[in-house]
Amino acid sequence: MPSQPVDQNLIRQLLDGTISRDDAERLLKMERKDAERFENYIAVLQRTVPWKDRILLRLNDKLFVVLNDNQQRVVKCACGVEFGDYRENWKLKCRVRVRKTQEQMLEVYDPAPGCPEAGWQEVREFICPCPQAAQMAVEVVPPGYPVVFEMLPDLDTFYREVLGKPLLDQSPQWYEDRSTQVTASWAAHDSDTSEQ
Ligand SMILES: [Zn+2]
Repeated sequence: MPSQPVDQNLIRQLLDGTISRDDAERLLKMERKDAERFENYIAVLQRTVPWKDRILLRLNDKLFVVLNDNQQRVVKCACGVEFGDYRENWKLKCRVRVRKTQEQMLEVYDPAPGCPEAGWQEVREFICPCPQAAQMAVEVVPPGYPVVFEMLPDLDTFYREVLGKPLLDQSPQWYEDRSTQVTASWAAHDSDTSEQ
């Protein structure tokens, strides 16, 4: 039998990092996960953000896939900035700071032996375009490497088969990576301007 639902205050403490060791241990040792855990988790998350769009999934500390007023599934920051269609890598709409030289990398790496090697790697910091300029993600990759698309969730399958509560706007088209359409539009724009 599934366990009793976990109290939402406890979920909130788990998110905040204020949960006591005893409670955390108790949750870890639950015999079965409770069936409403995802909905309760989303309900708690929903109270942490200042907007009303329905959260479909949390991507990281600050980013969510939401259903907005226009019934589009978009990536949205806790601050309210939208990054557009969730099938497009949200990082392509961030501000990006790239650390290329050893000196720039050593500003954020300590101890130094863990530092990437300039020339072979670069550090990309993805920053929200909001006034708070929150850092949303960091990737360390070879120079020229495509921007890493961390997660394209199959929301329809998750809601239908895992939660048993299908989303109303199900479509096979929701589960496709459209990031290359964004970069292709940049290329088209570049060639437009170079022809002028
Ligand atoms: Zn933001």
